[in-house]
Amino acid sequence: MEPSGPPPLLFEQSRTGRKSSVLAATPEGSNPISSLIPDQFLADKPPSLPELDELSVVRHYVRLSQLNFAIDKNFYPLGSCTMKYNPKRNERIASLPGFASVHPYQPASSVQGLLEVLYELQNYLAEIAGLHAVSLQPAAGAHGELTALLVAAAHFRSIGEKRANVLVPDSAHGTNPSSAHIAGFDAVTVKSGANGLVDLEDLKAKLNDQTAVFMITNPNTAGLFDHQISTISSMLREKGALMYLDGANMNAILGVVRPGDMGADLMHYNPHKTFSGPHGGGGPGAGPIAVREHLAKFLPSPMVVKNGNGLYELDFDRPESIGRVRATFGNVGVLVRAWAYIRSQGPDGLKNISEMAVLNANYLLENLKDVYPVPMGDRCMHEFVASARAMSREKGVRAMDIGKRLLDYGFHAPTVYFPLIIAEALMIEPTESESKQTLDQFITAMRAIASESPEVLHAAPVTTPVDRPDEVQAAKNPVLRWRAN
Ligand SMILES: *Cc1c(COP(=O)(O)O)cnc(C)c1O
Repeated sequence: MEPSGPPPLLFEQSRTGRKSSVLAATPEGSNPISSLIPDQFLADKPPSLPELDELSVVRHYVRLSQLNFAIDKNFYPLGSCTMKYNPKRNERIASLPGFASVHPYQPASSVQGLLEVLYELQNYLAEIAGLHAVSLQPAAGAHGELTALLVAAAHFRSIGEKRANVLVPDSAHGTNPSSAHIAGFDAVTVKSGANGLVDLEDLKAKLNDQTAVFMITNPNTAGLFDHQISTISSMLREKGALMYLDGANMNAILGVVRPGDMGADLMHYNPHKTFSGPHGGGGPGAGPIAVREHLAKFLPSPMVVKNGNGLYELDFDRPESIGRVRATFGNVGVLVRAWAYIRSQGPDGLKNISEMAVLNANYLLENLKDVYPVPMGDRCMHEFVASARAMSREKGVRAMDIGKRLLDYGFHAPTVYFPLIIAEALMIEPTESESKQTLDQFITAMRAIASESPEVLHAAPVTTPVDRPDEVQAAKNPVLRWRAN
């Protein structure tokens, strides 16, 4: 099937004078809308909006929604992103008026239910982290990283030290060095060994009394658990440096091992990954952070607290806090979904999620590695990184071509070209949500693609409305606004 191309915009479908239903005129015969607007606010001429009938508008948006690739339609094995199924129950709960229709500045006494949910979520996240205190304020994982590094900076200020560096492994997500930089530190790269884990010799060489924080992702972005974590933690403690755990991969270890027990002093969560907040297309997310006891006083203000009378309040009386990092108390809709997910699973359910996520990833790894070599690790955690390097050398087929071709088979592409330490990376994360039948279909598709001709793969996808957008242009010169020529 030839790509049909994107559907015309509403502006392009517009016909002068076409209308949907119109509000009936008032008994006095005046136009009901303009009569409600004071004269001084009325423009001389109407804005140039598209003129359409209602059915065309409904069809336009329904068609657009169906063009999207979505987790509700198909398997979405996007590594590093944890695109798990988002139970519809969470949506229903998050849209209850007591959560969705409150005003952030209404008195705490009138939002006790919401504050109770946030208070409980703080406690659950502290418990899962094995750490002392949680702030729900940051608006995304990257924002959590930044907030935690500001907390670390406040800690060193409070003990009269000025430390310049944050160490980041070369396998880290790009947000790690960026957060370090924005928080005022220099980001220093620590190499990975050939096994994909932190190279302890390189860490030793770069760790010194200027090191404020070591940011580690464990399991890391290659889907490997760094078993050296206790050694790393001791090395850091000896130098007075803090350990930050990037918690984007918590889906692999919920209820199995706690970051605090691994020696982490600070961490962030991505509730939109681990706790089933729908995401993609840029958000919304959240980035709660958890910290060890001696760092709690620096957390953003306000915190949700429970007073002696059993009532919930916002505590603004936090003299050593780094201050606010976001208006009010975070992306409440995402946080309510996280609470609902955790409550519906319970401790055993959370552990089961991680076990299933790891099992599913290993099932795919085992059934694909003979055609898509996995350079680092025979076993993985919740995700693994295969390499199309040999295929690229032998027949000029790249990771991108494989990703594009998967769309023709009805699967979203894995993450490609990340992490940077693996050439022609295909990073695959099935999550716990998928059935064995879906995993088997994916394996069949991946194996079929491996034997297809370069011509077919270079031309893919052929079944989608848009085939290969110019990604550089789309990133550098995005066209976000319609303009009349
Ligand atoms: C997704 C991710 C982040 C950033 O989280 P956002 O919520 O997208 O800002 C950081 N680190 C890792 C390893 C990630 O996968």
